[in-house]
Amino acid sequence: MSDDTSLWNDLQAQDREHVWHPYSATPPGGEVFPVVSANGVRLSLADGRELIDGMASWWCAIHGYNHPVLNRAVEEQLAKMSHVMFGGLTHPAAVKLAQLLVKLTPESLSKVFFSDSGSVSVEVALKMAIQFWQASDKPRKQKMVALRSGYHGDTFGAMSVCDPVTGMHHLFGDVLNRQYFVSAPTAGFHQDCPDTDMEEISDLLTAHHEEIAAVIVEPVVQGAGGMHFYSPDYLRKLRALCDAFDVLLIFDEIATGFGRTGKMFALEHANVEPDLLCLGKSLTGGYMTLAATLCNDRIAEVISNSEAGAFMHGPTFMGNPLACATAIASIELLLSQPWQRRIQRLNLQLEEGLSPARKLPQVADVRTLGAIGVIELHEAVDMQTIQPMFVEKGVWIRPFGKLVYTMPPYTMNEKDLATLTTAMVEVVASL
Ligand code: PMP
Repeated sequence: MSDDTSLWNDLQAQDREHVWHPYSATPPGGEVFPVVSANGVRLSLADGRELIDGMASWWCAIHGYNHPVLNRAVEEQLAKMSHVMFGGLTHPAAVKLAQLLVKLTPESLSKVFFSDSGSVSVEVALKMAIQFWQASDKPRKQKMVALRSGYHGDTFGAMSVCDPVTGMHHLFGDVLNRQYFVSAPTAGFHQDCPDTDMEEISDLLTAHHEEIAAVIVEPVVQGAGGMHFYSPDYLRKLRALCDAFDVLLIFDEIATGFGRTGKMFALEHANVEPDLLCLGKSLTGGYMTLAATLCNDRIAEVISNSEAGAFMHGPTFMGNPLACATAIASIELLLSQPWQRRIQRLNLQLEEGLSPARKLPQVADVRTLGAIGVIELHEAVDMQTIQPMFVEKGVWIRPFGKLVYTMPPYTMNEKDLATLTTAMVEVVASL
């Protein structure tokens, strides 16, 4: 047996014995593939094979792997300090990153609360909304409104605003806070939003605004809940409704932030400012875990001047210096490049490369937006069958439900993207 084969076998066997993987049984039903290194857009498997990565590590690794600029940022920060507590202390990387985020996001967002994952940044936003109304003498305003097919994370607060059917409500029903849900907009990305799309939420806010703290949505792209692209016009109408009923608006841009939809933030398609904004995932270019919740002065002032006198949250690794330094490097790297043109090129190629799938009887829809390409099937895929088919073709695509999709690193060249889209169409055709 070659060294490669024995490393592969050992890793798989030991992994099965001790490691619990996401959304899986243990040991997991299907094969897990040991990766030993990653460079550019390629993952190197323990048996020597290479895969072109169409997932960017769950949509984060926008610059690809092992990038010299991000590596240098990590090394330079590591030599100074890898971590320091954030209570009562601050550090240059956190200050600079907060300044950068405030500058990049809508003008009204002025305060940044760092946390360690997207889900936690959602918890923070929900808690801020509730504390805001408590401090505003409206303590009954504690409920959230969310969209069906939405996804906001796996912690309890975040789960409570995920789609109640495809989310995990059936498992944790009694423990989850009961929130309000309305249908996702029907109007597509290029369409105006008809008034009928606003009726349900308008009726809900009319009847229950006195107990509603905030509406939370993923602007323009509903990601893990179904890769659904919708009308930016909906967001403008939603902002107006929230204002009319004294309800806060939370945008979850954890998946869409930092260029993925063709704008730096998806909210720019609508020119709408939320009261709270959640960022994560590609914030550090996929190097490490970091998230941020931004809010406007009004929220910050009301909470800070309240009887509680403080916002009650503070994760141990809040503002981790290594993560903040990497985020600064990732954002500056993105800004130093013609990223809009690059996303446009990726989009044109995704559109062209995936369009042959439109003719396949298995396929319900093919859609693209920015650097997102989706083939939606009529039936859910069988992961244990489909996953090895992609690996055989030298690409890493991890479908879920009826969706075979890609969110490649922005650095992917034409040839690799062609290999990726061809593999997607061929695998779907063979199902
Ligand atoms: N919100 C959205 C829109 C997401 O896509 C995700 C992750 N897929 C999350 C929240 C949760 O982020 P994390 O996995 O970092 O907790």
